[in-house]
Amino acid sequence: AGKPRIVVLGAGYAGILTTRRLQNLLSSDEAEIVLVNKHNYHYLTTWLHEVAAGTGDDDRITIQIKDVIDTDRVHLIKDTVLEVQKEEHRVILSHGEALIYDYLVVALGFEPATFGIPGIMKHALTIRSMNSARKIRHKIEALFADFADSNDEQEKLTFIVGGAGFTGIEFAAELAERIPVLCEQYAVDPRRVQVLNVEAAPGILAGFDPDLADYSKQSLERLGVEFRLSTRIKSVDPQGVTLLTEAGEERIESATVIWTGGVQGNSVVCGSAFEAQRGRIPAGEDLRIPGYDNVFVLGDCSAFLDKGTGRPYPPTAQLAILQSDVCAQNIVTLLRGGQELKTFVPFMKGAVASLGAHDAVGKVFGIKVRGTMAMIMKAIIDIRYMLMLGSPKLIFGKGKLSTYVMP
Ligand code: FAD
Repeated sequence: AGKPRIVVLGAGYAGILTTRRLQNLLSSDEAEIVLVNKHNYHYLTTWLHEVAAGTGDDDRITIQIKDVIDTDRVHLIKDTVLEVQKEEHRVILSHGEALIYDYLVVALGFEPATFGIPGIMKHALTIRSMNSARKIRHKIEALFADFADSNDEQEKLTFIVGGAGFTGIEFAAELAERIPVLCEQYAVDPRRVQVLNVEAAPGILAGFDPDLADYSKQSLERLGVEFRLSTRIKSVDPQGVTLLTEAGEERIESATVIWTGGVQGNSVVCGSAFEAQRGRIPAGEDLRIPGYDNVFVLGDCSAFLDKGTGRPYPPTAQLAILQSDVCAQNIVTLLRGGQELKTFVPFMKGAVASLGAHDAVGKVFGIKVRGTMAMIMKAIIDIRYMLMLGSPKLIFGKGKLSTYVMP
């Protein structure tokens, strides 16, 4: 009967901030805090599209966890979570360790949702972690190197970005900006390279302001992205991709597909240890999983109901950050024997999407912003986050601002 143990799974936005808050709120006599993460670094998921396209630098979006967490206070375990055994209050890690918890915070982030489209997991690339983003970058470079050797003038180097949500649009813009650089480097004729954005809906950025969606589409078209709207990816195979358009099937040979069409909660916990709805675990008002008094679910693993729309909030870093605060406070209350838990009431500030290095678009506090103003807003979002991570010095070394102020 030692101290109660709080185990936080995942050091993404939700997990790392919850851990930081717990470390600040609780004395070491009150509880043991354990943070489990696959890597010893934290990464800014919101900039992975740049790593994938090769326009962003790995170092700028990764932060060593020990630089922002007090490792004398928090026990950091670098390992992969394999399973949560909720009845036993136990977490199984890949190196065989079984971790017993008194309180559990599930914050393992997202994985791609393929909607059952054949071949996506096997033959398409997906943006879901630092390593998967790096893999996309390497693959793009390898394709250019191979293509430079091809003498068939008819042949094209085709990249298909599946999905025109925020990630698809942000990635397509970066890729379109990288292509001229790669063409130069590998001596490839730019007219032989194409980026297609394939989207099942008739418009892009579903749910976003229609004017801003139009603006984004034009901005990407200027960069050379071609849109194929009202078009579905039917299947992906090693030779290429089959599309389903209003006119029927269309085959594109030797195309590389980068799928950004959907995400769901990490299946290590979602739909396995805990029941999921549409791939995510419904969270109660106090962010606990209903029926489990000592288990909280945050970020992309969670579905938190927006009473205004009757649907869960879309998964965003913004939501994960806000949740971490209430989660930490509620754990402290429970530990100290309190009953009254805080209800999570998100105050969403808006959304900003980057459109390559020179354009962005967003709606913040209900106000539409484009171009430089939107880029400034995006930099401010990063600065705020770095401050939350508790290290002002990170501001100039990490995140987006660094690309403006650093060489
Ligand atoms: P994550 O930040 O994904 O962190 C999960 C953590 O768990 C990671 O550290 C991972 O290594 C770890 N992990 C996973 N599996 C295991 C395991 N089995 N064992 C141990 N550790 C594990 N949101 C916004 O608000 N604004 C944006 O502009 C925005 N842009 C985006 C752009 C892109 C390209 C993408 C992909 C997403 C974007 N999002 C944006 C969404 C946002 O990134 C996510 O909602 C957010 O990252 C969710 O935070 P999280 O803490 O739940 O998970």
